[in-house]
Amino acid sequence: MQTLAREDLAALLRWYVEQGVDETIGEEPVDRFALPPPATMAMATVPSQGAAPRVAPPAPAAPVVSAAPVAALRPGPPAMPPRAPVPLESPQLVADARTLARNCGSVAELEAAIRAFEGCALKRTAKNTVFADGVAGAPVMVVGEAPGADEDRLGKPFVGVSGQLMDRMFDAIGMSRQRDLYITNILFWRPPGNRTPTPAEQAICLAFTRRHIELAQPKVLVLAGGTSAKAILDTTEGIMRLRGKWTTVKLDDGSTVPTLPTFHPAYLLRTPASKRQSWIDLLAVDKRLRELGAR
Ligand code: URA
Repeated sequence: MQTLAREDLAALLRWYVEQGVDETIGEEPVDRFALPPPATMAMATVPSQGAAPRVAPPAPAAPVVSAAPVAALRPGPPAMPPRAPVPLESPQLVADARTLARNCGSVAELEAAIRAFEGCALKRTAKNTVFADGVAGAPVMVVGEAPGADEDRLGKPFVGVSGQLMDRMFDAIGMSRQRDLYITNILFWRPPGNRTPTPAEQAICLAFTRRHIELAQPKVLVLAGGTSAKAILDTTEGIMRLRGKWTTVKLDDGSTVPTLPTFHPAYLLRTPASKRQSWIDLLAVDKRLRELGAR
């Protein structure tokens, strides 16, 4: 096998990053040069006599790219080695997460439990557990969707451009994460490549997030974006219908919290005209807090 020079490898990595391939999503590196040729792999799909038909798992979608800079790197079509499926995403894991969460008596205990939890597949590919930022027990708790690349790198929610917009918006009503806000997400780990989390991944994290809300006891809950609103409100309605409408979330310990779904700041960055509605939502939060004597 031809060995690539160091600078060629560096050029290849740079090229991957430019194409948007900026992270690995497998648990272990796959030496594709060492794999059997494709013809041999295809035979794995043919059932042996008397044996139950076995189908090799599909190869992951290859990134859509234009042309590789390193001509030497043109092996045959890649194929993943057959691997036994890891039964990570089972209902039992959701039940375990619920039990674990229920047994936590404080936000600190919950954080420790989440950091130690190995039942969510997302944790395997994430750099960091992104638990929360701001003041636990603050009057406003914001629940977003999932950590992105910046959040994953720094281990804190909403620290990228959309988080900075969110900070500026709350600042406009005199609120900050240093004093008035407690910020978290439905998911504690970044989905690889920001893919949509599976229902099981969401359900596992949601078990923790619901307990998180119970323990943080905010006066008001703000759900940032459709994914968060749908998950917490357990509805299929979209954010366009939900935003700006107060509702009451009933938690498993019997407590309730006034809740306002609003647009996700990333959506506002793409659709600045919607900032007007978000501003109305923030004023409504301010008003509700004053009515509750929390400001
Ligand atoms: N978007 C989210 O929903 N949460 C983050 O933490 C960052 C971006």
